[in-house]
Amino acid sequence: MANNWNIPSWLEKEVRERDKRCVYCGVEFTSVKVSKKTAASWEHIINDAKIITKENIALCCCGCNASKGQKQLSI
Ligand SMILES: [Zn+2]
Repeated sequence: MANNWNIPSWLEKEVRERDKRCVYCGVEFTSVKVSKKTAASWEHIINDAKIITKENIALCCCGCNASKGQKQLSI
């Protein structure tokens, strides 16, 4: 998955290690080749890309991300 958020790699690593499952529905992430819906995508808890902290960045599945009607496709 692409990192479109200017998240530093050390932070990306920490978040990936913390969030093995979707923060919303708890599904275990799969490769995008297995299912697009359960592939991981970046989520900003507070929808502000300037807040780049461990607390504000999480991983959720594309299914949840899409159902929130978010930005994924607009980038
Ligand atoms: Zn989910």
